[in-house]
Amino acid sequence: MFGLLKKLFGTHQSRLLKDYWRLVPKINTWEVKYQKLSDDELSHKTIEFKERLAKGESLDSLLPEAFAAVKNVCRRLCGTEVHVSGYDQKWDMVPYDVQLVGAIAMFHGSIAEMQTGEGKTLTASMPLYLHALTGKPTHLVTVNDYLAKRDCEWIGTIFRKLGLTVASLTNDVHPFQRKEVYAADIVYGTSSEFGFDYLRDNSMASHKNEQVQRGHYFAMVDEIDSILIDEARTPLIISGPVGESRQMYDDLKEGVSELVRKQRDYCNRLATDARKSLESLGLFDAEPKKITKEAESAFKKLWLVSKGTPNNKVLKRIKEDPDLRAQLDKWETYYFGDANKDEKFAALSDLYMVVDEKNSEYELTDKGIKSWVGGADDFTMLDLGHEYLLIDESEKTEEEKMQAKVLLREEDSKRKERSHNLRQMLRAHLLMEKDIDYIIQEDKIVIIDENTGRPQPGRRFSDGLHQAIEAKEGVSIQGETQTYATITLQNYFRLYTRLAGMTGTAMTEANEFKEIYKLQVLEIPTYRNCARKDLDDEIYMTEREKYNAILKEVKEIHATGRPILLGTESVEISEKLARILKQNKLEYTILNAKNHEHEAQIIADAGKKGAITLATNMAGRGTDIKLKEGVRELGGLHVIGTTRHNSRRIDRQLRGRSGRLGDPGSSKFFVSFEDSLMRLFASPRMTALLQRFRPPEGEPISAKVLNKSIETAQKRIEQRNYTIRKHTLEYDDVMNKQRQEVYAFRNEVLFAEKSIPIVEEILETVSKQIIEENPTNPTEALGNHFPITFKDEKSEKDLVEKVGAGFQQKLIFQRQLLSSFRPELNDAEKSQNVLQEVIRNLMSRKLDSLWQEHLLHIDHLRSDVHMRTVGQKDPLLEFKHESFSLFERFSRHLREEIAQDLFKFEMMPQPTPQAPKLKRAPELIQGG
Ligand code: ADP
Ligand code: MG
Repeated sequence: MFGLLKKLFGTHQSRLLKDYWRLVPKINTWEVKYQKLSDDELSHKTIEFKERLAKGESLDSLLPEAFAAVKNVCRRLCGTEVHVSGYDQKWDMVPYDVQLVGAIAMFHGSIAEMQTGEGKTLTASMPLYLHALTGKPTHLVTVNDYLAKRDCEWIGTIFRKLGLTVASLTNDVHPFQRKEVYAADIVYGTSSEFGFDYLRDNSMASHKNEQVQRGHYFAMVDEIDSILIDEARTPLIISGPVGESRQMYDDLKEGVSELVRKQRDYCNRLATDARKSLESLGLFDAEPKKITKEAESAFKKLWLVSKGTPNNKVLKRIKEDPDLRAQLDKWETYYFGDANKDEKFAALSDLYMVVDEKNSEYELTDKGIKSWVGGADDFTMLDLGHEYLLIDESEKTEEEKMQAKVLLREEDSKRKERSHNLRQMLRAHLLMEKDIDYIIQEDKIVIIDENTGRPQPGRRFSDGLHQAIEAKEGVSIQGETQTYATITLQNYFRLYTRLAGMTGTAMTEANEFKEIYKLQVLEIPTYRNCARKDLDDEIYMTEREKYNAILKEVKEIHATGRPILLGTESVEISEKLARILKQNKLEYTILNAKNHEHEAQIIADAGKKGAITLATNMAGRGTDIKLKEGVRELGGLHVIGTTRHNSRRIDRQLRGRSGRLGDPGSSKFFVSFEDSLMRLFASPRMTALLQRFRPPEGEPISAKVLNKSIETAQKRIEQRNYTIRKHTLEYDDVMNKQRQEVYAFRNEVLFAEKSIPIVEEILETVSKQIIEENPTNPTEALGNHFPITFKDEKSEKDLVEKVGAGFQQKLIFQRQLLSSFRPELNDAEKSQNVLQEVIRNLMSRKLDSLWQEHLLHIDHLRSDVHMRTVGQKDPLLEFKHESFSLFERFSRHLREEIAQDLFKFEMMPQPTPQAPKLKRAPELIQGG
């Protein structure tokens, strides 16, 4: 069944590829013709193509000629010097046929999977050129600023020769220069620069001239998996300080530490008892092991320890021994059974909280709640409906009842915040680990990126978790921030009419690309067959044995002169390995700084004879390792993976560093049962295997089945992370609709030639609504909103007209005021134009401030709905529902407040009219 599906999938893929191959000779025929043209004639092709497009020809039909033009330019460039990254480089590239196929796939909006070193940078030039012929915004999204600049200089040579303009958008491009950058036919830049400009254009630019982007037509995303998968959990956020902070981390700090300490002490005692009795029974060394009743009770204690403090040292030691580990698993299996549920519950109730490392969750037990200093109130929410009823039934005056309800609501919101802070603080203590999830640097908590192992200064954990960790570690707690504007990268890229991607590793996530982004992954054949040997994993019981084996491998390979690349999952492991290499007098280069330009250089040098390079996963991505002289004959680059990553894709990326363009090479992964992947996902079945295949100390476990188990564990994590990403996106989708509506309105306000007609319409809507809602005394209600005295108007039409007339009166008066201190504006049209601008401003400012307030409510709603899971409600449904009514309320407020403000503004003398300025973004924060 599965094989059949795969075959179907396969045929669809190969059918497409076949279609694309058919175009290749057409492109090449044109290219041969172009060889006879003069340089000028060739570059004139761009103008010709544009004209043909204007006459209605399609991009599809232009493809062969356009791609041929690019290919031909490349041929002409061969042998010439191109200035790239500070030095001159000889051009030596003419697109291969497989690259033409990749380019066609990209043009059709696929993700082209092309292995590292296959020349994706050059391939992308073809679809970029073709799309740019439309004159619409065409963007190439790179991984970092260094690559944006490099590729713009390097590949940009082609476009410049064809008469198009190219620019790079890097972090150091000043806001004033950005409009010019975006005016270029093709722009190279990073996703966050593009994304933040979009947010700034739509939430901060107060005049259309301040907007820098000119739309979103075609985006070609390089290393698309890193953007849409790895970065999918951290949206772009522009934020600033909140008016009034609600957080209570300081108050809760002591209590939480105390509770966590209690749990640790309790578990330590259990573990020590267990260790003592296992020692006295000789179970740490005796063979064969005899499990007595006493031993069993010791293992039961250790099982409890594993639920309370999964990182306990005694526990770790037990797990090193397959036989002892099996005893622990026995309890796990026993308690897993439904029949023993009550017994399990009773056992767990001795803990204060139960930690579920696998799912990154925890739960307080009754004992934990009883021991909490703040009392049970901190965990129970008010039943507002019931409380309201009590107030309504009480003997109070209406006024007092109102008052009581207001107080109750305040109490409710305080409790919610406190309970939320409390839960985040416990999470910080139980599930976030120093030097793994974050480090402390200069009184700050700095996140460590789980994919790259790199510190991420400036980013913050979202939803108060960052503050909770700050409180836990005793560093200064940063103020609560408020979101001004936010978007996920996924939703940013959805703005483009046409989207395509390229990467070396997309196949394992093909399903996700298809389901969520409607992007299809197409595997492009390699230029030459891959000659890399991917060796079987070596699996060890302990980390100690694993590192010894890695060292042995490095020594052996190094002795042959082959270069070695060691991939690690974190900076910490890189440094650990560096120490080991140093002790053994092996020279190495280590990569973990965030200096992309420097990194690119080191990575490029990693192909030298005898080189040993230590790098975290993402380091130097986008730069390929070229084998230097004599290395090919020795067998090429050897890649060593120091653990299996949570995702197979990252492992493939590392392997792909070797064997580029048919080069020889090899790769091997080293794994231990203490690696986090194995710790979290090893099953009792695996332990049973270990008992059977247990090797002597220092020997790898050779069981083919294990390779399969590792892959299963990886797949399970991939699946879980996919669910999390999907979840984030589902929430953002709700907001996306609202954001689009608001941004569209804002742009209408900024771009409309006249703003007064817009407010006149708003005024009418608001007036009608007030009349409708106050059928008995409409004039009084209108009078409360607008400074207008009504006489004997009765019908809706008359009333609405009266309000409109009042506004016209206001405008006339303001015009007179204006010309009194600006005589040059003593002209109805000129002064009316000034008022148009004033009103435009009034609207956009009101919109911004209310929208920000709305985003704050949404933030709170998001954390609120999660508390409701208890009531068996689906939090996403609740969120959708309530954010919708919040949005309705926001729209209504917006209309009403704009309408009221129309009668409040006053013209005042101002020295000279000021040129519009782009407001600087407040502190930029990217957080998850
Ligand atoms: P990728 O992004 O696919 O990993 P790059 O675009 O960085 O690969 O290209 C890898 C190397 O291959 C570059 O050094 C480039 O000069 C070279 N290259 C790419 N295409 C060609 C070609 N058609 N002919 C010769 N060299 C090429
Ligand atoms: Mg690349």
